[in-house]
Amino acid sequence: MSRIYNFSAGPATLPEAVLQEAAEEMLDYKGCGMSVMEMSHRSKMYEEIHNQAIADLRELMNIPDNYKVLFLQGGASTQFAMIPMNLMKNRVADYIITGQWAKKAYQEAKLFGKANAIASSEDKMFTYIPDLTDLPVSPDADYVYICQNNTVFGTAYHELPDTKGKDLVADISSCFLSEPIDVSKYAIVYGGVQKNIGPAGTVIVIIRDDLIRDDVLPGTPTMLKYKTHVDANSLYNTPPTYGIYICGKVFQWLKQRGGLEAMKAYNEKKAAILYDYLDQSQMFTGTVVKKDRSLMNVPFVTGNPDLDAKFIKEAKALGLENLKGYRTVGGMRASIYNAMPMEGVIALVDFMRDFEKANG
Ligand SMILES: *Cc1c(COP(=O)(O)O)cnc(C)c1O
Repeated sequence: MSRIYNFSAGPATLPEAVLQEAAEEMLDYKGCGMSVMEMSHRSKMYEEIHNQAIADLRELMNIPDNYKVLFLQGGASTQFAMIPMNLMKNRVADYIITGQWAKKAYQEAKLFGKANAIASSEDKMFTYIPDLTDLPVSPDADYVYICQNNTVFGTAYHELPDTKGKDLVADISSCFLSEPIDVSKYAIVYGGVQKNIGPAGTVIVIIRDDLIRDDVLPGTPTMLKYKTHVDANSLYNTPPTYGIYICGKVFQWLKQRGGLEAMKAYNEKKAAILYDYLDQSQMFTGTVVKKDRSLMNVPFVTGNPDLDAKFIKEAKALGLENLKGYRTVGGMRASIYNAMPMEGVIALVDFMRDFEKANG
């Protein structure tokens, strides 16, 4: 067996120990004679997996009692609609546009009411986080929406915006569990798990309980009401059972590694290796304003598309894969989520140094 260093933005690398354990349990989970995939979602065996995962996530993120944890489907993209359908009582919401995922969420919200772009970094190709100190928050806004880590462009909020008392909703798909966050500062945080937690197909939503209500927008389908899933502990219909099982294993893995403070320290060290190299390189340049850099997604360029292509090809031959930048951005992007070991980043930087010498 030989495994690559996978720098994909998502679906992304998972902890090897978790995959190993899942492989061992694949045919016969804990002596029950079947795989978790083959189990009824109403069985006691599955219920234990489900509830343990929720309990471990609550512990890892220190989630206050007045928040619910949901396992949903439909990708992060379904939340772009579900959030306004459930929260847009006044049919007004404010969006901060820091990249393509924030923009998509903003455009989706327009289907349901008045969505205002109260700040944007589109003027400079989303290479920075806009000034957050005195935002023109709408007096009747139902919420203020951010995408906390911008997977495509490699920026992240290192502090939260002043929402002037309005509820804050955040897409944390690509920074989920990468460092501690204070859940009580948000009304909803959510993310698809395929970036930093588990296999594609599961979405985790953490929602404050006063937002769980029946008076959602008229016509909201049952499956798109948070209340449906809260009332059933995410078992209203068949949940993505295998995905939740793997997420649960990743939660255990994170706990064994010392939790989110320890992950933050590790992620900072990892990212610094790459950013420090970029900052002194004559060939490679990071594309993002320094103070707004993401710990998870690191875009960089040589400035020459042919050289970029050569780099990506030679890196792949060495087992450093999926370094191509997002299709609309070009260049390179290294996604260095929780499960990317320090050794992977060191191998990448070693190769960048060699490549610079050979081609500089
Ligand atoms: C990948 C991603 C999405 C889209 O996720 P899907 O699960 O494919 O819908 C949304 N937001 C962010 C920040 C992402 O990284």
